[in-house]
Amino acid sequence: MSLATINSRALLGVDTIEVTVETHLSNGLPGFAIVGLPETAVKESKERVRSAIINSGLDFPSRRITVNLAPADLPKAGGRYDLAIALSILAASGQLDKDSLGEIEVLGELALDGSVREVHGAVSAIIGAKAKNNKIILPLANSNELALVAYSKGYCVKSLLQLIDHLTNKTSLINYQNLPRRQKPMLCSVHGFSEVRGQAGAKRAVQIAAAGRHNLLMIGPPGSGKTLLANILIGLLPNLNEAEALEVAMVKSAAKLQLNGANWQQRPIRTPHHSATAVSLVGGGSKANPGEISLAHCGVLFLDELTQFKPSALDALREPLESGEITVSRANYRIKYPANFQLLAAMNPCPCGYASDPTHECRCSEDKVTRYLGKLSGPLLDRLDLIIEVPSLSQAELLQHSNETTDWADIRNKIEQCRELQTQRNGKLNSELKIGEIEQYCQLSTSLRKLLANTMDKLSMSARATHRVIKMARTIADFENSAQIRKRDILEAISYRRCQFLKSVIR
Ligand SMILES: [Zn+2]
Repeated sequence: MSLATINSRALLGVDTIEVTVETHLSNGLPGFAIVGLPETAVKESKERVRSAIINSGLDFPSRRITVNLAPADLPKAGGRYDLAIALSILAASGQLDKDSLGEIEVLGELALDGSVREVHGAVSAIIGAKAKNNKIILPLANSNELALVAYSKGYCVKSLLQLIDHLTNKTSLINYQNLPRRQKPMLCSVHGFSEVRGQAGAKRAVQIAAAGRHNLLMIGPPGSGKTLLANILIGLLPNLNEAEALEVAMVKSAAKLQLNGANWQQRPIRTPHHSATAVSLVGGGSKANPGEISLAHCGVLFLDELTQFKPSALDALREPLESGEITVSRANYRIKYPANFQLLAAMNPCPCGYASDPTHECRCSEDKVTRYLGKLSGPLLDRLDLIIEVPSLSQAELLQHSNETTDWADIRNKIEQCRELQTQRNGKLNSELKIGEIEQYCQLSTSLRKLLANTMDKLSMSARATHRVIKMARTIADFENSAQIRKRDILEAISYRRCQFLKSVIR
């Protein structure tokens, strides 16, 4: 019977699903049909496959060819099935032994001359094949991804002919062991704490935010050092661990971003411009691409000039800030992307920038300031754990010689240890604790409960904000090596939520 099957993989978000490519050759008028919900690029695969087979010096069967991509209800996009389709045609027409196609998965787009082009989402495909203990064949252009996942049954090919040679004569292919290895991750370069004059409160807040992965908003006039503080926070974060690095690589690979040994364990930092749309921030659109928040998965999303962002874009952040993932819809299916990021934001206190600055006069009317701050919705502010003012410095403070000797490498180590402590105890960072887990891991004495309840009333804090205060207090206690949450930890955590400036204007 002129029938052959081979396995490939579809990409859905960062997940992959096994796809079986079945080819049947029958008698009758010569023709070529692909069924199984193919999108345009897959339909065009017919022309690429035909030319690639002929230009590789092989026979394109002059028969009625039916290719079925199963499961049929899963939409298939891109040229990733070309190579699998070509192989199944060659096997169905007797030019290749059908048994040689068992337990292998093939991915690759064909050029007309038979060379194999890059596909996206290779990292997820390799992980999927690994889970099934299948051999996987990938384009040579995806070799970086194979090298990083280091799967021993993964191989790279540069052309259809090279793959046929491998399957028939058993010539060897490029394996991950022949590829360049991962490099030891480099530390992010940052300016030291000593470069920020004064701002003791802000520096402390930055360390707490880094230690527990809490969201941070900095409000201050231009030139007060907000961007420098943001860079310090980013520099204080430890490198990704192996599991996180794999998750980040899956997103990058699906988004067709460059992935190499040098950036393997580097925490992603995304800094979208304030003109970004909701779709570019959270993902979706006609191609259902991952958005900035998914590209910032396990890393930092830095929104400078927070109030300049469109309200619709900021609103779209609410759900992922709570759940750590985002679901985007296409016409007939839904795709889930991971989006567990730390939000870091900065803004001026008013349109002119000097409302909170005693040394400059603010030129904004009260109305204008209220409108400006009104762009920050209550639910968004609720999800920001630390809201701090970064005051401007006086001339004297600026000129003062800095005699700070703090070594930021020491602080970085302390933060890394604090994070390890949390993961060992909670299985996750403090900021990621769910309500039930807060009771388990963040126990408060009766007097502290009372104190918190009173403050909640006084500041009219929401339940969500209160939970965030407790989680932050847990981080502060951890940072100070205290097993119990103490009164001073709770008070410090509350202090990060009562931004006097915002309170006077919008609460
Ligand atoms: Zn102003």
